[in-house]
Amino acid sequence: MTFWQKIKQAFRSFMYGRNGADHLSMALLWTGLICYLLGGIVGSIAVSVIFPVIGILLNLTGFAAYMFSLFRVFSRNVEKRRAENRRYVTMMEKRKTKRRQAKVRFQNRKTYKYFKCPGCKAWLRLTRGKGVVTVTCSRCKTSFTQKA
Ligand SMILES: [Zn+2]
Repeated sequence: MTFWQKIKQAFRSFMYGRNGADHLSMALLWTGLICYLLGGIVGSIAVSVIFPVIGILLNLTGFAAYMFSLFRVFSRNVEKRRAENRRYVTMMEKRKTKRRQAKVRFQNRKTYKYFKCPGCKAWLRLTRGKGVVTVTCSRCKTSFTQKA
C-alpha cells in the first residue's frame, strides 16, 4: 500500500459509522463562512462602537455554525442527524416552492387577480375583469365575494 492509500484507508475507517457531509452540514459550513466574513467587514467599520460588537457577534455565530457543521459530519448518531437533515431539506423545498409560486403570480398579475382564501389561506385566482364574483374555495368550500 502506498502512503496515500494508507491515508485514505485510515480516513475511511475513521468515518465509518459517522454521518458524513449532508445538505444541512454544507449549509451550516457556508453560513459559518459568510457570517465570519461579514463579521470581519462589519467589525472594521469604525463609525461607532456598535459595529465591532456586531462584528464579534457575527464571528461567534459563524464559528458556532462551523462547529455544529463539524459535529454533524463526525457524529455517530446517524439516525438523529438524518432526521435533522430531512427536516432541513423539506423546509428548503417548501421555501423554493413558495418562491416559484410567487414568481408565477407576479408574471401573471395582469391576467389574473390573486387572493387568499379567508378560510384556509390558500392562494386562489380569478381572471381579471370579471367584476364581483362569488367564489367557493375548492379546498375548504368557504364561499365569499371577490372583486376581480
Ligand atoms: Zn379555502
